[in-house]
Amino acid sequence: MAVRKPYRLVSRDQHPDDSVIRVGNIAFGGSKVIVMSGPCAVESREQVMAAAEFMSSIGVPVLRGGAYKPRTSPYSFQGMGVEGLKILAEARERYGVLTVTEAVDHESLGHVAEWADIVQIGARNMQNFELLKAAGQSGKPVLLKRGLAATIDEWLMAAEYVAAHGNPNIILCERGIRTYETKTRNTLDISAIPVIKQLSHLPVVVDPSHAAGQWQWVASLARAGVAAGADGLIVEAHPNPAEALSDGPQSLNFRHLDELVAQVRQVARAVGREL
Ligand code: PEP
Ligand code: MN
Repeated sequence: MAVRKPYRLVSRDQHPDDSVIRVGNIAFGGSKVIVMSGPCAVESREQVMAAAEFMSSIGVPVLRGGAYKPRTSPYSFQGMGVEGLKILAEARERYGVLTVTEAVDHESLGHVAEWADIVQIGARNMQNFELLKAAGQSGKPVLLKRGLAATIDEWLMAAEYVAAHGNPNIILCERGIRTYETKTRNTLDISAIPVIKQLSHLPVVVDPSHAAGQWQWVASLARAGVAAGADGLIVEAHPNPAEALSDGPQSLNFRHLDELVAQVRQVARAVGREL
C-alpha cells in the first residue's frame, strides 16, 4: 500500500479504533481520565514521599517528578539523576503509585526505563530522533510531549519514530506552544485535542502547568482539556511551591490540586467519562 502520509503506524487510517495504553492497573485512552501529578523536579526523599502520599490519598494513580531536568539555563537545578529515580521507585513501592519521569539522552533513558513506569520525552527533545528511536526500543510506554514550536504533523511524525522502532505504547501530551502571547508561558492549543483524535488513534493528555506558567490558571486549562476530550492530565504540584527548585510559580499546592481533581471529575462526568 502506498504511504500517503508521512506517518502511518500512529495514523487513524491504519487503526480506526482508539488505542488503549495499559500501564500497571490503569489505561490511557479508555473511559477513565487519568491524572498524573507531582513536582516538576525530584528534590529530596521527603518531598517525593509527601507528594506520593498525597497522590495516593486522593486517588491520583501516577506520580510525576523529573530526575533529569532539561533547564533553559545551565545554572538552574539540573536534577538528582539516578538517585532521584531511586527515590521515585521507593515512593512507587510504598504508596502504590505508578511513576512517569523524563529521559533526556541515551544514558538517562536506560536508567529511566529501568526504574520508572512511563518514559517522558520532553518538549525540547521531541525532535531528538536518535532519542526517539531509543525510546522505541525501551520497552516502556512513552509520554511524548509536543515540541515548543512543533506542528501537529511534526509531533505525529515524532510519535511515528517511536512506533516504527517497536513501541506502540505512546501517549501524546499537549503542553502549550510558543505564540506571540507572553502573558502565559505557552499557549495551550486546545484544538490539538480534537485534531489529534481525528488523525491518530493514540491517547492524548494535557499539561496545563507548562502551558499556563502560573498556578492560578492551571485548573481552568485542566477543565478545558478534559472538556475537549483529553484522556488525562499531567499537573505540577509541590508540597511547598514557594520553595520549589523548578517551576514553583506554576506548581499547585496540595489543597489546590485536590480542588482541581474535584472540578475535573465533574467535567469528566459531563462529557461521559469517569475519573
Ligand atoms: C516538565 O514536565 O517538567 C517539562 C520540562 O516539560 P516540557 O518538556 O513540556 O517543557
Ligand atoms: Mn516543569
